[in-house]
Amino acid sequence: MKVVKRWKRLLLALLGLLLLSQSPFVYRRFQLRSLRAKIQELNSSRVVNNGDAYADYKGVIHVHSQLGGHSTGSLADIIDAARQNDLSFVVMTEHPSATIDTAEMTLKGFQAGVLFINGNEASTAASDRFLVLPGTATARSAPTRSTQDFITEEKAEGRLMFLAYPQEFRSWETADGYDGIEVYNLYTNARRINPLVMFFDGLWSYGAYADLLFTRFYERPTDSLKRWDDLSASKQRKLVALAGNDAHANVGIHLGDAGGKKYLGVLLDPYSRSFQIVRTHALLEKDKALSADTLLEAIKSGHCYIAFDLLADSTGFRFTAQSGTSSVIMGDSITLADGGVRLSVNAPIKSRIVLFRNGQPLEEAPEALSKEFTAHERGVYRVEVYLDSLGNSFRSRPWIISNPIYVE
Ligand SMILES: [Zn+2]
Repeated sequence: MKVVKRWKRLLLALLGLLLLSQSPFVYRRFQLRSLRAKIQELNSSRVVNNGDAYADYKGVIHVHSQLGGHSTGSLADIIDAARQNDLSFVVMTEHPSATIDTAEMTLKGFQAGVLFINGNEASTAASDRFLVLPGTATARSAPTRSTQDFITEEKAEGRLMFLAYPQEFRSWETADGYDGIEVYNLYTNARRINPLVMFFDGLWSYGAYADLLFTRFYERPTDSLKRWDDLSASKQRKLVALAGNDAHANVGIHLGDAGGKKYLGVLLDPYSRSFQIVRTHALLEKDKALSADTLLEAIKSGHCYIAFDLLADSTGFRFTAQSGTSSVIMGDSITLADGGVRLSVNAPIKSRIVLFRNGQPLEEAPEALSKEFTAHERGVYRVEVYLDSLGNSFRSRPWIISNPIYVE
């Protein structure tokens, strides 16, 4: 009799402990519910009032399909996810293959109303990685070429070269001539997940708030931003910043048979979710139609910005500069005149707008829909925008990262 009682007490104690250990995750589910409500409120408060000459196209860059290996996603999945997210463009970046031309075989041109660019991701002899746009069968020989040769040779063929995975890049001192840097990579950020915490968060929140679980690990890419800022300032040349979704649709758990049939699966990074989280917005003059040429030209010019659209739809954001009779947008240069250059920022939602010069925060405007700054010195000026109203942790994690205006 006594033995049974002792067992009961032990079981109750264990049950109590189990419940106690789960309480933080229950609370975190509650937090995500309130975050969802705040996001909905922000999105319904959007004001877009740009009477300017530009149209804003939202898309994603750095997407893999099963063509390049270590991804399970099909081309049809990618088209569906782009349509679900109402994207205007998707930049594919297939790994090259020794036997097939993955750039030729992946999505390109308009598919179901979405523009696809058939790029490659390739790694040089020094293991430096680049996004090559558009892609090419010659990307397969990248591992035998030096980083500089790879850049120079592909640039000579008219392709855009973006330095990818900056935290693993080795040739900072020597490599030059590339178009820009992938300053944020969703896959790299996701690898910093604490698996145990994510497991319990998932248990409680995956069903209702799978997309918002991103906010549990999202970090400002501070090191990559510093690299980019320092290089832009020291090289005195344009370096375009991009965000890479690095979407594979291969992070997850499933049970299946040898024939590839899946019986039970939980996919943590389906394309539809990745495409919702972070995007690159390109600005095209309204009289230009969206095409592979006009999109790549806008990206090359830095007429684009990075936005974590999961937090709120950023469409309509602008960063422009005026001096005398000249007027430019992000990515462009402008000459410093007497009285300075007027820098204007417009955001579709009240937010904190922070102006940086050569990587240093210079001025900020709290809770503003628009803000004007005056630049009195030459330098590389860019903007980060924060949604403080989403909660304390969002004070250090940006919603929007603009490309710079170069005051010369
Ligand atoms: Zn990749």
